[in-house]
Amino acid sequence: NLEIVFAGRSNVGKSSFIRELTGKKVKVGKRPGVTLKPYNICYSDMLVTDMPGFGFMSGVKDRKKDIVHDKIVRYFENNAKRIKVAVLIIDGPAFIDIADRWNARDEIPIDIEMFEFLNELNIDTIVAVNKIDKIKSKDYEQIMNGIVERLGMSPPWKQWIDIIAPVSVKKGDIQSARELIKNRLHEAKRDDLLKYI
Ligand code: GDP
Repeated sequence: NLEIVFAGRSNVGKSSFIRELTGKKVKVGKRPGVTLKPYNICYSDMLVTDMPGFGFMSGVKDRKKDIVHDKIVRYFENNAKRIKVAVLIIDGPAFIDIADRWNARDEIPIDIEMFEFLNELNIDTIVAVNKIDKIKSKDYEQIMNGIVERLGMSPPWKQWIDIIAPVSVKKGDIQSARELIKNRLHEAKRDDLLKYI
């Protein structure tokens, strides 16, 4: 079966995004990021996996954060073959500041590390840049360029519309990401069929 995995740091809007995309509610508790395990749901003929939120979690100890991080890494490693597409959700307006703060401390920002890790595993990854409703239109191009640059790709960001999808779950605008996901799943299904020919 095809598997699609959603990952992102806590509070980027991951559960809202999955609900908007699939109509399924994935968040169980109220507090962000407290679930430790990848959460699987069946959707159509697919397996949809919601990773626990990583990175900052209010009131959650560092030790637990490390456990979550290890679980996510291990899950991707163990299931890389089956995972057809990963959707990494980031907080558009906050991403650059957070990334630069980490860089200043000589640490790799966790979403960037995750993106590189997924690429190393050859997992096809889409980055949904969420909360773009909070970005002023005059800053939009610059912020999108800054994001792709920090992810290791050269601007202008429009070169990367196969990978980068600006969305606003709040406004119900996830069309760009929906298209990319649909295309990837079509490709995966076609490849699956071709195996038998
Ligand atoms: P998760 O922890 O990543 O699963 O994030 P949630 O789906 O719980 O959302 C975290 C917060 O971000 C909530 O307060 C949402 O209302 C808010 N949020 C989600 N999507 C958007 C968006 O597109 N724009 C804005 N402004 N806020 C959003």
